[in-house]
Amino acid sequence: AHHPINNVAIAGMGVEITELRKKSEQLKAARESAEFRAVHDALTSLPNRDQFRKIIKMQIESQPDHPFWLLMCDIDKFKLVNDVHGHDVGDQVLTDFGHFVTRVIDGDVIVSRLGGDEFAILIRDQPDQRLDASKLKTMLNEDLFEIKVGARDLEVEFSAGAARYPTDAESYKDLLKCADLALLRSKSDNTSRIDFYDAQLGIEYTNG
Ligand code: GH3
Ligand code: MG
Repeated sequence: AHHPINNVAIAGMGVEITELRKKSEQLKAARESAEFRAVHDALTSLPNRDQFRKIIKMQIESQPDHPFWLLMCDIDKFKLVNDVHGHDVGDQVLTDFGHFVTRVIDGDVIVSRLGGDEFAILIRDQPDQRLDASKLKTMLNEDLFEIKVGARDLEVEFSAGAARYPTDAESYKDLLKCADLALLRSKSDNTSRIDFYDAQLGIEYTNG
């Protein structure tokens, strides 16, 4: 039987699909635009180093009393991933890392690729809920970071160093330095993926 109402609905769907397609093409064009590329890393589409600095500065200026963590992460033996599995798998590891971190950290997270296999992460405390160090440690230590290479899963290790705003430092530059020192210690002792800045660590490293 002939149902004119259904025909109208189907014609309407056609218009909707055209609109959706147009939107997705616009989105693709926007991603490729100079504006997008200026603030994002080309491989992962994550905010780049410059943009991350701006994000942290904006966070400090707009909410000076709101605590957050700054995490520095670096993939362990990443050169070996490239050497053994090839550069494309290496690229895939880099791209997946951002997704992995966003998934395992339960909170308000912004991941940035600073360069190479180095990532920086802003984790803002939820309003009225302190994200303490032990909780953060548990989140990061719980899940394996795995990616599929052919038929099997490749397990990738990484190390992280954390600094807390405003207790460890109050400026972007100093926070990054603190997180970097913690990352160095995390790399040198393998008991946990993540290590935390403390004043003693600053003293040890400035004295050589
Ligand atoms: P460590 O355990 O001490 O962190 O050593 P590592 O092997 O991970 O080496 P390191 O972090 O010092 O070096 C990072 C390597 O990442 C060096 C470079 O060959 C590789 N790399 C940098 N950018 C890219 C990229 O865009 N794609 C791929 N596949 N590799 C990259
Ligand atoms: Mg590395």
